[in-house]
Amino acid sequence: MVDPNCIFCKIAQGDIPAEKIYDDGTVFAIRDINPKAPTHVLVIPYEHVEALSDADPALVAAAARCFEVAPAIARDLGVAETGYRLVANQGPDSGQEVPHFHLHILAGRRLGSMG
Ligand code: 5GP
Ligand code: ZN
Repeated sequence: MVDPNCIFCKIAQGDIPAEKIYDDGTVFAIRDINPKAPTHVLVIPYEHVEALSDADPALVAAAARCFEVAPAIARDLGVAETGYRLVANQGPDSGQEVPHFHLHILAGRRLGSMG
């Protein structure tokens, strides 16, 4: 499913240009436009899946694939040894901006404690 109003669907479809630093046809990765760390990459499923609470099989598969490929992307980015943080924001209190499931890879500095 594609949501024509969703910014990540537009990037997935190529309607908004973005350099895909990883792409396997199921998920892709782009650098965050507003990086919160020296390395800040978003891993995004092509399919428009929204909240984790939906727990539908498409979302579970897409989320699992994001976690599956994140270590290889981190290795390619050169941050596997120094470490990285994976973040999936859900809902208003998390500050989620884009309601299309995605995983943040944050790295390149000491990120400090959560919260
Ligand atoms: P969220 O807050 O939903 O977890 O994360 C959405 C992220 O997408 C934000 O960190 C924001 O900077 C990033 N973002 C929003 N629009 C664009 C865009 O058009 N291109 C890229 N590369 N990143 C975007
Ligand atoms: Zn979408």
